[in-house]
Amino acid sequence: MFEKIFIEKDIKDNTYTKKVLTHFKDTPIQYLDKVEDVWGRVKKPYLQKRTSLNLFIGKKMGELVKEAPDAYGMGEQKHYYFIHAYNCIYECQYCYLQGYFNSPDIVLFINHDEIIQQMQKKVDMNPDSWFHAGEFSDSLALSHITDEWSEYWDFFKKNKQAKLELRTKSVNIKSIINLEPLENVFVSFTLAGFEEGKKFDLKTPSVKARLKTIEKLVNKGFKIGIHFDPIIYTESTIESYNEIIGFIAKLIPKEKLGYISIGVVRFTKDVYREVERNYSDSSMLHQNFIKSFDGKVRYSTPMRMWILNTVKDICIKNNIDENVIYLCMEND
Ligand code: SF4
Repeated sequence: MFEKIFIEKDIKDNTYTKKVLTHFKDTPIQYLDKVEDVWGRVKKPYLQKRTSLNLFIGKKMGELVKEAPDAYGMGEQKHYYFIHAYNCIYECQYCYLQGYFNSPDIVLFINHDEIIQQMQKKVDMNPDSWFHAGEFSDSLALSHITDEWSEYWDFFKKNKQAKLELRTKSVNIKSIINLEPLENVFVSFTLAGFEEGKKFDLKTPSVKARLKTIEKLVNKGFKIGIHFDPIIYTESTIESYNEIIGFIAKLIPKEKLGYISIGVVRFTKDVYREVERNYSDSSMLHQNFIKSFDGKVRYSTPMRMWILNTVKDICIKNNIDENVIYLCMEND
């Protein structure tokens, strides 16, 4: 899976480091002082991840828990995301990581204790804060090798008002399926229509497989969140969302569905340039994007509003409580 593993010298005996290494007994290892000494120093083209991917294990310094932008999550509470990894083994065509970092190599940070300490400080000020995992990576895709979630579970068991969201497209639930389902922990899946998933979410588990995983988690008593984001407009978008929302409404009982976010595809200028380079023949690009109020490349406001409201209406028609639906990153 990885060509080489780079490990910061100071953490070579850390329990998480050792746990990760048990999965890669034959992979060459190189020790370094800091991940940043090598990772991202020279531009590595994003699509090299297909043929040559390295793993870095290190300790994240500085601010580990950051305030999330407006409209990041539901409700008026404070929302934070925390950084425990960079980059992803999947390859969604719209992924913003392709224009964000200089390298697609995966970085795993092992100082979860320090992330949790910083969370505690936020919770001491605002007990009902939300914490989101998966801003710079998929929160479950590699969780069988990192196995950190039980440590976070302990924190959220103690801090019942605080909430955790694990954002994912993965079906890799080995590390959480035997943990106690908590009322304040949500496993949230990004979904699209079946066809759109096939076209744009490359290398991820299929939408059908994600639905099966949701079913398993619901049966175990887990709370679920859904992100219909980013919606990419195709001729069959509305039909596709009718279908997938019908499945979701039947699959997730009301008391287990925490929230549904709805958002439309959008790119920063840099990410859009990368998408054009990496997926030049993608049908996603054959659309009328404009440069929007915040410098992002997206559909025009009337089109965005039409898509968002149409998908929201489909949810409501399927008896999904309007109060659990929020529109993502659309505060103009
Ligand atoms: S799953 Fe998320 S992080 Fe991974 S490639 Fe897709 S959009 Fe990017």
